[in-house]
Amino acid sequence: MNHPMSKLCAAGIQLREQIDDDYPDRDRRSDGVVADARHYATNPSSDHIPRNGIVRALDIDANLNAHPEETYALVEKIRKCAKRGDKRIKYIIYDGKIMSPILGWKRRKYKGANPHRSHFHISFTTLGDNDGKWFDLEGDRNERLKEDGGKLGQNVPSNSTRNIPRGGLGCRCDCKCGASISLA
Ligand SMILES: [Zn+2]
Repeated sequence: MNHPMSKLCAAGIQLREQIDDDYPDRDRRSDGVVADARHYATNPSSDHIPRNGIVRALDIDANLNAHPEETYALVEKIRKCAKRGDKRIKYIIYDGKIMSPILGWKRRKYKGANPHRSHFHISFTTLGDNDGKWFDLEGDRNERLKEDGGKLGQNVPSNSTRNIPRGGLGCRCDCKCGASISLA
């Protein structure tokens, strides 16, 4: 199925940019955005399926080209950011665990077919469709406000109009969360 007009939600673009900034040499082969045709059948509720042209899910390759612990630490930062109240994040899946508002973002066993070890999955709420503001992953927004009135790192222009390239993000993943690969 072709979705030439599909694009990742603004929150997803912003979060991926922050991860790219922190891990410029990361492996992107298990990255993914848009569901492939198979997932339409196997997981029709996947957030990787565009709705009104917007994809509300992002897969990030677990290989950050850093110590493996870094991946856990990054997922933990995203989880805590959500727990502190960033309602753009709907849920996260990584390494056999799902994290969502259920039980206050506690890590719970993920029972899906794919345990998500080659990548982690982030679903976004509709609040992230057009809201590409900076994610406070370090939890230091209040300190920033004291230091510079919150300007530092804020209002990073997010290119929310960027279209997802057609055909081939070079993804090798086989994600039951509905992932990804290409628009071909
Ligand atoms: Zn996914």
